[in-house]
Order: sequence, then C-alpha cells, then structure tokens
Amino acid sequence: MTIPAVAAKPPLRWLNITVLGLPIVVSLTLVPWYGLTNGYDAYEWAWFLVLLAFCELSITAGYHRLWSHAAYKAHPLLRFIFALGGAMALQNDCITWASDHRRHHLFADNNEKDPYSANNGFWYSHFGWMIRDYPATRSELGNSKDLQKDPILVWQRDNYLALMTAMNIGLPLLLGWLHGDIWGSLLLLGFLRLVVSQHFTYLINSAAHMWGQRNYDPDQTARDNWFIALFTFGEGYHNYHHTFAWDYRNGIRWYHYDPTKWLIKLCSWLRLTSDLRQCSAYRIEMTRVAVQYKQALYQCERLAEAGTWRARLETEYTQLVKSLEQWSEAQQAWYQTKSTALSNELHNDIAAVKQRYEELKQELQYKRNAWQQLLNQFGSLPPQPA
Ligand SMILES: [Zn+2]
Ligand SMILES: [Zn+2]
Repeated sequence: MTIPAVAAKPPLRWLNITVLGLPIVVSLTLVPWYGLTNGYDAYEWAWFLVLLAFCELSITAGYHRLWSHAAYKAHPLLRFIFALGGAMALQNDCITWASDHRRHHLFADNNEKDPYSANNGFWYSHFGWMIRDYPATRSELGNSKDLQKDPILVWQRDNYLALMTAMNIGLPLLLGWLHGDIWGSLLLLGFLRLVVSQHFTYLINSAAHMWGQRNYDPDQTARDNWFIALFTFGEGYHNYHHTFAWDYRNGIRWYHYDPTKWLIKLCSWLRLTSDLRQCSAYRIEMTRVAVQYKQALYQCERLAEAGTWRARLETEYTQLVKSLEQWSEAQQAWYQTKSTALSNELHNDIAAVKQRYEELKQELQYKRNAWQQLLNQFGSLPPQPA
C-alpha cells in the first residue's frame, strides 16, 4: 500500500514574520502595560487617529484607487503624501503592492494565481499569504510597468527602508519629544497605530470576501458590506469594486460611508485630483437588475407554477430594461440640449426635452417599484409540494 505524499508547506518568510509579528507582540504587551502604568493622554490619542487615517487613506486612495486602478489622476504633491503614508502603513512599496493587487483582480479567487485568494480561507487571505513563500504571492512586476515610470514611486521603492523607518519610528519619536512623552508616543503612534491600520486593510482581503451581498457579480467571493466599510475607509463595498474597479468610488450612493471617495472628490475641488472616473448610473442599474433577474429565475424552479412565474418575471424584466434604456437616452439628450440650447437661447427646446426626460424618469420609477414588488413576492411564496 502506498501512502499518499503530504504536500510540504512552502518555507516561512522570517523577515515578514518578524516585521509584522513584532508590532503585534508589542501592542498586546507593552502598549497596555504602559497605558495602565503611565496612561496615554488626549494629545496622543488625537495623533493616533490622525496617523491611522493618514495610513489608511494613503493605501485606499493612493496605493489602491489611484495607482492600482487609475481611477483618477493626482497632483505630484498628493502622490508624494500618499507615498509617505504608504511607507508608514508598512504594506510594501507601492509598485509591488499594486502589482499584487492587479493580479488579485485579474485572477480573483484562483488559488494558484490570486496572491490573497479568499478561496484559501479567512486566515490565508487576511494574513497567512504573507508569511510563507507561496508561489501565487511571488512578485511579478510585469503588470506594473506604468507605475515603474512614476518618479515618486521609484523614489519610494529605492528609499523604502529609510522612509518606513522615518515614518514609523522617527515621526512618533519626534511627536513624543515635542510632547514630553517619547515612550508613550512610540508605543501608541508607532506600534499600535501600525497594527490597527494594517489589520483594517487586511479585512478587505478577508472579511470583504466572505460576508455581505453580491449585488453586481454573484460569481466571485467579493461582497458589499457597509459594516466593513466603517473600518476600511469605504472599501467594504467590495463586490461593486470588483465589478467596476476603475470607478473612483466604492460606495456609489451619497449615503454610503466611503471617506476615500469624499477625499478624492474634495481634492478635485482643490485641483489636487482630476479625471475622476465613474460608471454611469444606467450601467450600474442594468448590471444589478440582470443579477436580480438571474437569481429570481433560479428561485422560480422551486415554485409551483414555475412557468407562469417565469413568464411574469421575463415581462417585468424586459419592461424595466426598456424603461431604463429610454430614460438613459432622454437623460443624455437633456444634458446635450442644455449645453447647446442655452447658448443659443432656444428655451422652448430645453423645456420640451426636459419634460420628456422627467416623464421617462417617473415611468422608470413605476417600473422599478413593480419589479421590486415582484422580487419581494418570491421570498414569501411556498415551495412546490414534493
Ligand atoms: Zn478583493
Ligand atoms: Zn481593487
């Protein structure tokens, strides 16, 4: 009898284990001990929050939406600030980070090619992928040639060790010296801030691929989860992001908690960002409705009178799609007429086109309501008797 060979695990990466593990050990021991014996004051906690936000936003707005996905353009000053914050977050240099992340999107959930595939489980996608030399995690920078031409990123990569030391140790020491508490500042702003910011980011690869809704692409693990968005500066709307990765927003509604989106928008008013890319409302809704239709068709199969329900679904879906198309065309016509007719003082033209747009908008709302009511009915219908 032959005993099947057990696949050996790849060797451990001791450098990563030390660099990522030491701050965790310090945060679990010295940080609370110092807090109990000496205490941390409001100055230190305020800086903790500022630097936490600085690190997180440098990753989400800089490493992620700007450099990995080219969702907008940024002024060199802002790129420089993000490069500093990225070094402080200690998540590798941006060229390597973005290269890994582009492979994460291209091969999402493929255990052989996605560096932090969620199909390998929570621990692997959250942290485990960094501590062993897994083949999928080995850097291949061929997909980040555009970033290798950015002088700020090349500078960051070439001086990464000095930058990350200055930002993680030098800056907390300086803030502590100014305040008269070097050790408290180093522990809170150097160590605890680093661990919290890193694990908040890791939640995007683990939790945001496990819990939540798949509104736009049900075939991949990425989920939309508003609760995870609270810790990740807006990156919790991850199913949307994996579907429309080039959109500068992750939370598309105004009430979605997405501080990264607000920062990018705010910076556009200050002329620090430009060319913000955004998916049209029409395309977003068409994608979402198509997913709902597919899922409802699947649900139909378990119902008595499946054929009747299927026909009803198809009718409502076709009407909704048609209404969406008409509304989208009328909206474009309205925007065009507004810009050309205003300059020629053709006010009657404007009124007629606007009225048509408003009528179609109202009609679309009726169709949306009817569609939603139909979908709600599916949840309460009894299954087909066995
Ligand atoms: Zn993802
Ligand atoms: Zn992404």
